[in-house]
Amino acid sequence: MFESKITTSTKKYQSFIGLEVHIHLLTKTKVFCGCRSAFGDEPNTNVCPVCLGYPGVLPALNIEAMRLGCLVARALNCRIPERTWFERKQYFYPDMTKNYQISQFASPLGQEGYVDLQGKGINKRVRITECHLEEDAGKMIHTGTASLLDYNRAGVSLLEIVTEPDMETGEEAELFIQQLRRTVRYLGVCDGNMEEGSLRADANVSINIPGKGLGKKVEIKNLNSSRFVKLGLNYEIRRQGERLDAGKVVVQETRLWNENRDETAPMRTKENAQDYRFFPEPDLPVFTPDAAFLKSVEDSLTELPLKRVKRLEAEYALTEEQADLICEEKAQADYFEAAVREAIAEGLEQRDAVKRVANFLLTDIKHTLHQEGIAAADLGSFKLTPKRAASLLALMAKGVVSGKNGKQTFEAVLAEDKDPQVIIKERNWEQITDPVKIAEVVQKVYAAEGPSVAEVREAAAKGNTKRVSALTAYLVGKVLAATGGRADPKIVGEQIQDLLQKE
Ligand code: ADP
Ligand code: ZN
Ligand code: MG
Repeated sequence: MFESKITTSTKKYQSFIGLEVHIHLLTKTKVFCGCRSAFGDEPNTNVCPVCLGYPGVLPALNIEAMRLGCLVARALNCRIPERTWFERKQYFYPDMTKNYQISQFASPLGQEGYVDLQGKGINKRVRITECHLEEDAGKMIHTGTASLLDYNRAGVSLLEIVTEPDMETGEEAELFIQQLRRTVRYLGVCDGNMEEGSLRADANVSINIPGKGLGKKVEIKNLNSSRFVKLGLNYEIRRQGERLDAGKVVVQETRLWNENRDETAPMRTKENAQDYRFFPEPDLPVFTPDAAFLKSVEDSLTELPLKRVKRLEAEYALTEEQADLICEEKAQADYFEAAVREAIAEGLEQRDAVKRVANFLLTDIKHTLHQEGIAAADLGSFKLTPKRAASLLALMAKGVVSGKNGKQTFEAVLAEDKDPQVIIKERNWEQITDPVKIAEVVQKVYAAEGPSVAEVREAAAKGNTKRVSALTAYLVGKVLAATGGRADPKIVGEQIQDLLQKE
């Protein structure tokens, strides 16, 4: 609704958006101790003296967290420095028992990268300031009369990704989050679940008169969906514009997104940068990635989503929209490519194979996954494997089974975990394509449907084409029914036509 108003304010003011995104890395254990890292466990069950901050304990770096962090950094075109280390960030809050958080400050694991935003009419490079590894804090649950603490999350590996203020609209920031989410899921380093908090974003935004540089920034917290990132930012751009229009100033502050009222509200003012008194963590050595470590990072860099969309578009002559839909999940793109390969092996032309597989995947399979509550990410273990899908599509293409029985075959494959050919044989669903066999049935129906046949002729004589086609369809239907839906409708139609035109 207020989208139109933004365009007027962006003409007058330039907007700047920088994001700080936190992702939970999918390590089995926490970043500085051996406790299990999991969401939803019984509170305070995954804790130990290290993550509870007892005096005298020593943290030990989880190398896998460092590796996954570096993997994300490389996917975002960041440089991994020769030496990276940790600092203590001091602050006092009950969710942080040590009164400091181990984080990175002077030499984070990933530095000076970039991301290209592409799609939805957006084409823009966003610079990545840095990626740093840190420990998450515990979770505070406020009840009416008390505040409860759950430290299961304390010490969980967290990677913070910071962008330069290069974005200008809520739509760009939304796309950034969506692309990042897809990327970390492709890499298998984070599940990207924003509702469970495994991907959280804080959005910074300011506006100013064009050419005057950055304005006074407002930070919006509490954004647990990419849509809220968009809505929150666009709301702020409008609100700040209205303040400047009215000759007021924008207060530098932290605001919260209120999803019920679709607006941001002040949380605290942040006039000066907080002094965290960062100093190097004395209990952890400097990390110097060696050749083997760097190689294992590079080896894990799978083809990233945007590249894959482009390749699928070119290699399979798909539209950008189709390629984008297929590439939403890595497992789905894998499924598509495997099924096309198999369908070609079954003898289908590449173009035909692509068309059939894409249609089947994006309609029938998608629908079934939705109905059965199976995530597209789990397509790797779907009972209709790419090979089975390809053979079913080839059987339908070659007319061995009708479209209708093909759909039923699909259902039976899922229910019985058997190959489509087996199901079709067992159910006797092979389509009848032998013209002689079909002619026998056509003759029988023709003889039994005397009055209808006479009526078609009469209608034809009067030039009533509408009535002719309705009656022809009726006769074809009768033949199909007599064969249990197995006769090839095309051949039946041709034979009926021939008969009607005789005499
Ligand atoms: P802080 O010291 O408050 O953490 P930083 O300078 O570290 O601020 O920046 C945090 C985030 O805010 C980054 O993503 C950065 O791009 C963005 N940012 C900084 N200044 C501005 C500004 N004036 N307008 C919009 N975004 C900004
Ligand atoms: Zn622990
Ligand atoms: Mg900062």
